[in-house]
Amino acid sequence: MTHAVVLGASMGGLLAARALAGVYDRVTVVERDALPADVGHRRGVPQDRHFHTILRRGAQVLDQMFPGLTNDLVAAGAQRVGFLDEARFVLSGHELARVVTGASDIQATRPMLEGAVRARVANHPGVRIVPGCDVAGPIVDRGRVTGVRVVLDGADGVLEADLVVDAMGRYGRARAWLTAMGFDTPDEDRIDVDMMYVSRLVRLVEPFRDKLVLVGPVPGRPSGLAFAAQEDDRWMVTVVGMAGDHPPTDEAAYAAFVERAAPPDVHDAIVTAEPLGPFRSHRFPASLRRRYERLRRFPPGLLVFGDALCSFNPIYGQGMTVAALEAEALRRCLRDGEHDLALKFFRAAAGITDPAWQLNAVADLALPEIDGRRTPSTRVLNRYVARLHRVAAHDPVVAGAFARTIGLIDPPSSLTRPGVLARVIVGGLRRR
Ligand SMILES: Cc1cc2nc3c(=O)[nH]c(=O)nc-3n(C[C@H](O)[C@H](O)[C@H](O)COP(=O)(O)OP(=O)(O)OC[C@H]3O[C@@H](n4cnc5c(N)ncnc54)[C@H](O)[C@@H]3O)c2cc1C
Repeated sequence: MTHAVVLGASMGGLLAARALAGVYDRVTVVERDALPADVGHRRGVPQDRHFHTILRRGAQVLDQMFPGLTNDLVAAGAQRVGFLDEARFVLSGHELARVVTGASDIQATRPMLEGAVRARVANHPGVRIVPGCDVAGPIVDRGRVTGVRVVLDGADGVLEADLVVDAMGRYGRARAWLTAMGFDTPDEDRIDVDMMYVSRLVRLVEPFRDKLVLVGPVPGRPSGLAFAAQEDDRWMVTVVGMAGDHPPTDEAAYAAFVERAAPPDVHDAIVTAEPLGPFRSHRFPASLRRRYERLRRFPPGLLVFGDALCSFNPIYGQGMTVAALEAEALRRCLRDGEHDLALKFFRAAAGITDPAWQLNAVADLALPEIDGRRTPSTRVLNRYVARLHRVAAHDPVVAGAFARTIGLIDPPSSLTRPGVLARVIVGGLRRR
């Protein structure tokens, strides 16, 4: 009987477990938190109080893994929102043209999204989720990881495994384990964004015409917001500030902070809405990417997955979609058996991460307030994207190309394909 153990039952761990199910006879997912029966908040996922979107690409992969999932979510109240017909994007200070693009997202509270995925994984034959189980360390035998030591209900235990997957998030333990085992640790790419999220669910006093409004930061105002319809007739208001420009949580100062970024109708809707709970804050110091794919040696029996590999700036809403794509890649890698599995998987995951990371880096480094090395090509791209946003305010083709790229449907290179490039250059000249 083959056995895989996944560490962490958040979205990353659940999706990894789905990829492993059927390949290993048994898959055990261990999670430190007690898990809510369906939709509750929990300590191990503090981000679950804040806006969480599943991009169209992620929704497609989730539906392949769990047929009917997104329709079931929508039937239960989640919102499927078309970019840019039902969603308003204000980027680099320009409201993008309204057009049907084929890109969309699924919007619901994070506990609802995670609860739906967890229920399906838990029902999968051969999968067992063990809550209240703290991972203490690896078991190593002659350079191979052969299991983990855990603490369950206060008692020490051992889980032997053919494969152990670290899906414990950005503070995952794999790097420390590598050091203890005498392996090199991966290089880390890092963008210090010094960001704060402040979120609150509200009920609107009047109907609102869009289902999502996203306002991105601009040079001189490194803050923005997401105003998003959710299940049960609620709206998530998430306000973010980068480079230390953090949103306040007393009502008057908060309203003034919102006003700096929000279009007037959005500001009015937010300040007149009925709050359904207190403000919740979440600090996000830096985006982190660990370059496991560059390691020459890695212990057999171990994998790293999800945010433990790369923790993206959350304002771009990519983490869960990338985890879904990684699960798809893991499944493909497993077709060739376990030989060199980790390095094959890390290379595949790097190919998924690259475009998303590049998009983020270009956007983050467009803000002079964010520290970081800007190569000449970063500067050229920053100017190009700012101009693209300006043109996209009036050109639906350009707006559509951008929406599909940030929806992770098309690669970033599609923003410079001839049909778009020419429109950005010519449109940019005209608008001047
Ligand atoms: C503020 C914010 C907003 C975000 N918004 C979006 C969004 O809109 N769209 C999107 O796609 N992504 C978003 N993300 C990212 C998304 O939340 C993650 O990518 C996603 O949860 C996958 O992460 P993960 O499962 O790898 O790690 P995590 O979600 O961090 O989960 C790690 C899990 O490991 C468990 N764990 C940790 N230590 C132990 C231990 N010792 N023993 C047992 N279990 C342990 C934790 O309890 C937790 O359940 C956002 C992130 C943040 C911070």
